[in-house]
Amino acid sequence: MSGRFEGAVAVVTGAGSGIGAATARRLAGEGASVVVVDVEEESARRVADALPGPALAVRGDVSREEDTEAYLAAAVARFGRVDLHHLNAGIVGTFDRLPDVTVEDFDRVVAVNLRGVFLGVRGAFRRYAEQGSGGAIVITASIAALRGSHDLLPYESSKHGVLGVMRGAAMYGGPQGVRVNAVAPGLVPTGLFAGAGTAGGAGGDLLRRGTTVPQRRTGTPEEVAGAVAYLLSDDASYVNGEVLSVDGGSAWVNTVRPGGGAGAWDPAPVDEAARVIRERTS
Ligand code: NAD
Repeated sequence: MSGRFEGAVAVVTGAGSGIGAATARRLAGEGASVVVVDVEEESARRVADALPGPALAVRGDVSREEDTEAYLAAAVARFGRVDLHHLNAGIVGTFDRLPDVTVEDFDRVVAVNLRGVFLGVRGAFRRYAEQGSGGAIVITASIAALRGSHDLLPYESSKHGVLGVMRGAAMYGGPQGVRVNAVAPGLVPTGLFAGAGTAGGAGGDLLRRGTTVPQRRTGTPEEVAGAVAYLLSDDASYVNGEVLSVDGGSAWVNTVRPGGGAGAWDPAPVDEAARVIRERTS
């Protein structure tokens, strides 16, 4: 693999699992020193220990200002600087019906997914200013930042919000040589839905829902990591303020046309495809 990130230092949040862990591996594989940040210390250490290059595991809760400052300080203490940020940590929150969503449910998801991204972006800009350098930031949004559904309201609100942070930061960063972009993953089997129960739309029917994707399957963390690496790299040197969907075409489904995508397919082949995927992946 080419060394697009040779000599660069990258921070990846929520890197103890799923998409963040895949990005950490991808960036390290292309030459970066990687700071693996996660609220689960053990997971962060496990991922960092398995990376092919220099790596540091840091326990941090991205919703906390002091933890954000601490992971950046740890990165600088170990590697001297930070060039790249993948602000990726997130939680899914409640699946409750809209009238049943509590203020606590809402605030917790917004604290991690939206305040966490704000703190990470602000911290990155402060660091770049101290270094007198430019840099690149990628935020993990979601198809839930682009489309509506009523079953994940706090999550969807937070993911719409991160695009606001991303666009404002892209405008601020442009003149300073800092690019800020987002990826919007679709369905990617990870730990995100672990513990979300068996309600429709939680984890249990993920593979079946995957067959309603135009590409007729779920994605992998590595496929999202490839898009993140692109946006962080000089290959994307003139891409700023952009949202890159990594969802097999899901965001472009036209539900009101017979040839548009989901809803246009006979459920029998969908079930058959789900069975085949389950067999292949179990
Ligand atoms: P995951 O649960 O496998 O990984 C998320 C990681 O974030 C975990 O290691 C978790 O410990 C960590 N984390 C949670 N709260 C944290 C906090 N407060 N501080 C620091 N770390 C914290 O899930 P994933 O699918 O890899 O999720 C990564 C990102 O991708 C999330 O922002 C999620 O919303 C987004 N996303 C995922 C999907 C999908 O289908 N998996 C789709 C769209 C967007």
